[in-house]
Amino acid sequence: MKSFTTRSLNVDYPKEEPYNALQMPVYNAVAFEFDTSEDIAANFQGKLPAHAYSRTGNPTTEYLELKLKTLTNSHQAIAMASGMAAISTTIFTLCAAGDNIISGSNLFGHTYAFFNQTIKSFGIENRIANLKSASDILSKLDAKTRLIYLESVTNPQLEIPDFMMISKVARENGIILIVDSTLTPPNVFSSLDHGVDVEVMSTTKYISGGATSVGGVVIDNGTFNWNKNPNLKDYAEKFGQNAFAAKLRKNIFRNMGPCMSPQTAHYQIQGLDILELRLERCFENCLKIGDFLEANPGIKRVDYPGLKSSEYYVLAQKYFNGVPGTIMTFDLGSEEECFRFMNKLKIIRRATNLNDNKSLIIHPWSTIYCEFPDEKRQDMGIRPTMMRLSVGIESSADLIEDIRQALS
Ligand SMILES: *Cc1c(COP(=O)(O)O)cnc(C)c1O
Repeated sequence: MKSFTTRSLNVDYPKEEPYNALQMPVYNAVAFEFDTSEDIAANFQGKLPAHAYSRTGNPTTEYLELKLKTLTNSHQAIAMASGMAAISTTIFTLCAAGDNIISGSNLFGHTYAFFNQTIKSFGIENRIANLKSASDILSKLDAKTRLIYLESVTNPQLEIPDFMMISKVARENGIILIVDSTLTPPNVFSSLDHGVDVEVMSTTKYISGGATSVGGVVIDNGTFNWNKNPNLKDYAEKFGQNAFAAKLRKNIFRNMGPCMSPQTAHYQIQGLDILELRLERCFENCLKIGDFLEANPGIKRVDYPGLKSSEYYVLAQKYFNGVPGTIMTFDLGSEEECFRFMNKLKIIRRATNLNDNKSLIIHPWSTIYCEFPDEKRQDMGIRPTMMRLSVGIESSADLIEDIRQALS
């Protein structure tokens, strides 16, 4: 198979482009005209596929979807306004009031809030399980469990789940395995090859290409028999293997309205084409920064699953070809030392995003997790001495020099 970048640059347009433009044009249009009233009627009745209105489909956004579907070898890819839109519409497609889902305790903050606040008021229960233990997952399952939800690498704990163990539990119990693979985009992680049925991603992070735009995607790997989910039975009878995507597109996504704009799709197409190049550079930087930090006696602890010292190194090799994203954490002696260090940085920016082209640093204890009580933060693996570094594409020498001068 050709390389990721070669394939990304060579996904054909679904229709011939009248000007042979080498960039997919941005179709900044809301509505599309039909030749006859018969045609528009046929389109509304589902007999004539065509663009009608950009909340339900836009050529530029669909080209991004086609690229993502091609690059993930998946069955369907549906672009959304944000990562949270991808996550929330997926849950609402698969679950109804009275159902439950299973997730781990360490989740992206807004996913945690969505699972433990938002869906609760719609009658869907989130059951937190120890994802390292098949028996604990099994003890939380019942006939109303619709899915198990994982993150490919948790943030900022940087834990890696054992996909094969968990997918076996999901398979044997006829429930769907979902992964949020935002930290490990498709050039380093194939969810299809590791037993995942549905993948969700915030394309805001790596795919947008330098923090240009907010977006998300839902990917259906085409591996689940949708007849097994009672909330999809009607769709499975009508649409077979397309049941999930059909319910998502024709019901949840269409009626809730979180579409990606064509301008955003344009930015994300550019970002996707150079994803592999950017990630390779960030990964090289991570290894060099990791070595520098580990050799520095002032640093109390370094966590990055790409380093041999990590307890997740073996799983990182197994699932991500050794490239478990490019987020790392490290600890100084105290919160005050962290603040002093961060304030002295000149190249690395103090900001909350991930996978920008620029290196970003944050102190999670006093920011992202500031509303949680101390004990809860400790349970979640957040320490007052820890900083999270999202490594960018600057040169490793410049980044290491910036860290060195800020430590001095
Ligand atoms: C940022 C992020 C999200 C949410 O994505 P948005 O595009 O900000 O809505 C979800 N999951 C993970 C792991 C993230 O890092």
